[in-house]
Amino acid sequence: MMQQYFDIKERFQDSILLFRLGDFYEMFFDDALTASKVLDIVLTKRDCGLEEKAPMCGIPHHVADVYINRLVSNGLKVALCEQIEDPSLAKGIVDRDVVRVISPGTIIDSEMFSKENNFLMCILLDELGLGISYIDISTGEVKFTELYTDKNDIVNYLENEITKVNPTEIIINEDSKLNNNIVKLLSSLQGIFLTYYKLDLKSPEDYHNKLVKYFKKSVVESKFKNKPFATISMTILLDYVYKYQKNELAHINDPIFIKPQDYLAIDARSRFNLEISQNRTDGDYSLIKVLDKTSTPMGLRMLKSWVENPLLDISKILKRQDVIDAFLEDQNLANRLDLVLKNIYDIERLIGKLSFSRANAKDLIALKLSIEHLPILRKLLMESTMKILKSHGDTIDELTDIFTLISESIIDDPPTSIKEGGMIKEGYSKELDEMRYTSIKGKERLVQYEMEQKEDTGIRSLKIVFNKKTGYFIDVTKSNSNLVPENYHKVQTLTNSERYTTNELKVIESMIFTSEEDTIILEEKIFNDIREKILLSLLRIQNVCHQIAIIDALLSLAIIAKTNNYVKPSFNNSNTINILKGRHPIIETIIGDLNFIPNDVEIGAEDNLIQIITGPNMSGKSTYLRQIALIVIMAQIGSFVPAESADLCIVDKIFTRIGASDNILFGDSTFMVEMKEMSYILQNATKKSLILLDEVGRGTSTFDGLSIAWAIVEHLASKIKSKTLFATHYQELTQLDEKLSQVKNLSVQVEEGIDGIIFLHKIIKGSSSRSFGIEVARLAGFPETITNRAKTVLKSIEKTSSFEINKNKLDSVQVDFSSYQKDAFIKSISAIDIDHISPIDALNKLSQIIDESKLIGDDLND
Ligand code: ADP
Repeated sequence: MMQQYFDIKERFQDSILLFRLGDFYEMFFDDALTASKVLDIVLTKRDCGLEEKAPMCGIPHHVADVYINRLVSNGLKVALCEQIEDPSLAKGIVDRDVVRVISPGTIIDSEMFSKENNFLMCILLDELGLGISYIDISTGEVKFTELYTDKNDIVNYLENEITKVNPTEIIINEDSKLNNNIVKLLSSLQGIFLTYYKLDLKSPEDYHNKLVKYFKKSVVESKFKNKPFATISMTILLDYVYKYQKNELAHINDPIFIKPQDYLAIDARSRFNLEISQNRTDGDYSLIKVLDKTSTPMGLRMLKSWVENPLLDISKILKRQDVIDAFLEDQNLANRLDLVLKNIYDIERLIGKLSFSRANAKDLIALKLSIEHLPILRKLLMESTMKILKSHGDTIDELTDIFTLISESIIDDPPTSIKEGGMIKEGYSKELDEMRYTSIKGKERLVQYEMEQKEDTGIRSLKIVFNKKTGYFIDVTKSNSNLVPENYHKVQTLTNSERYTTNELKVIESMIFTSEEDTIILEEKIFNDIREKILLSLLRIQNVCHQIAIIDALLSLAIIAKTNNYVKPSFNNSNTINILKGRHPIIETIIGDLNFIPNDVEIGAEDNLIQIITGPNMSGKSTYLRQIALIVIMAQIGSFVPAESADLCIVDKIFTRIGASDNILFGDSTFMVEMKEMSYILQNATKKSLILLDEVGRGTSTFDGLSIAWAIVEHLASKIKSKTLFATHYQELTQLDEKLSQVKNLSVQVEEGIDGIIFLHKIIKGSSSRSFGIEVARLAGFPETITNRAKTVLKSIEKTSSFEINKNKLDSVQVDFSSYQKDAFIKSISAIDIDHISPIDALNKLSQIIDESKLIGDDLND
């Protein structure tokens, strides 16, 4: 038997193998060590004929589901190995094999899920591109995308997709291991179960032909045409799902192609920085949390997918806005709809369970109770005066036939198991009613027989007792044994009584038993017939789910727009972002809208492309940058935005370079991470992008960093022309305002009182006079001796550095001076009193001299 175990385990090394032995599933060796800890069950040892006894633990088979769910929710994969032949017929050891594999991405028990999607993702990484497919098998959603990119960017792309989809399990081709950075990326993903696969077919065509097994031919031909990577990843994905599913998974939807060019691109780092769905700290705040007032899990999943994929197509955005508008205009309707939606269960997952043959009668009742509200949902929408709501109402199928079917067949409070009977209503099946009648008749006859026996024997304490294992008996106390008639056969002697049976009792018993057993079998059959009938209408139900999800998500956006005082943004074609009194949607919910200082934004015109923002730490620069990005994202989702008014252009990509972090895993220092992020931005940004830079170049020497930042701004202004906000402490950068027409200076207003600075969080035009770093240190509680000393040091450094700058600048110039030029130049330079003017003024003066002397030409100017 252990040999059999080892053979099977060999094939399922990545799984905890549950090995069926009698009434238990046993686990051995490392599996036992892991599982006993996770499940908190006793670890024992078993002699397996090896030198040392094997660690072992086990779980009873009838409660296995609970334990399996616990293993899987702890990120483990479980292989269920059953006896696959009848033990009584087996010659030697019973044949066993794995019948089901349950992993985080393929689990279907709804108790396991939060309301959110549970995606299993399959990746095909090729030198030329990337195919990504993913499925939530509990809801039936299937999506895919295909990207072409060079080797350097592929890690970024992959990371972006993974953070966006947030799968619980990933399967990826073995060849991907050749790319070291991909291996590092995958190993850095926490809480995602990872499996490698080998390509088993020769060409994309072979995979294409195989895919037809899973989707309609027309779907495969139209959606996967010329998408070799996506074709392969989708086929592998479904192979993986179906490998251990005996059922035809009828609820799996037609796949949806996510065309990257249709959505606002936000890279993984920026998603994180902007707290779109995941909070940067461990708090409870994110954009999705702010926007979520959905009533159904379907609505929440829809809203989440919108938030992860803001649109680029204005007409689609306007459609969402129209519905929100309509809800805001008819508050009464919005309130009533909200109440109706609150009564609707997760139908999408209920039918998923139904399709997996894992639904019980309680699930059907939940389905019925949800369907019950469809007519009122439809009526409310149809009664609306708004055309757009009417048209939504018109698409809602009331599913009356399914409601009637479940109402007529299933009792209101059925048991959890479908194998114990007691769930089908009287009057639904004549055959079942007759069987039940026989059973009832049998039980009535039993009561009557007991009375007859008492009378015939004269034993008043005689009673008929029931035992689950052995059935019905006549129980007579020992003191009355002498009165027992001859036709009684003794079967058991207890301490105080004796138990008998009679031929007639056996007949009555079999009347009860056979009909009860048959009833249970018949009830299960009827249940399965009902299930099949409902599955015939699967597509109709799925359409209803889709409609509910959309209405719920839009209603949520309307509720939030009203409660948080948002405004409908308009869109322009002039590539500008104009926001009046904009607010940060997340921070205002934390500190309260009254405490939040709104700020205006105006950016994007040819002479206002890049804004350099200076101001002390903690004054609100990052908040301002982030709120602009969040307002843009919200607008492109279709949501209203936190502002008094907003006129926006469509942004194609958002990039952020915020905060400092190192990446030890990839062997990158903080500065390297910063430079890589910046390089990615410079290579990918377009004229339509929005770039937010919160300090660049701080991780190296001041002059190095400043030069890099300077060059970046010049490049962005003259070449890429993205709308850019750059928060910085390099005061020197504010000079670009005068040099480049595209650059403008902004700063955060602070008030300097006797007790130090006060943050006003107000963004104003013009640059900040200085950085106030020492004041911030004082606010942070620094001892006065240190801040005073810092002030003195600062003064002396400022003096020296102005000299350094001049000297560096001259040293770096490689131009032949004629003696005349040299004299004239040195004379002019000497006129600058660098001890008594600020470094910036000294620099200005220097460039003025260079300009005026016209001696040295463009090289020195640069
Ligand atoms: P900086 O980037 O300048 O260091 P932050 O943007 O991180 O500053 O802001 C620091 C804190 O100031 C925020 O956490 C927030 O509590 C508060 N704050 C920022 N902007 C505002 C604002 N507009 N209104 C009210 N409080 C703000």
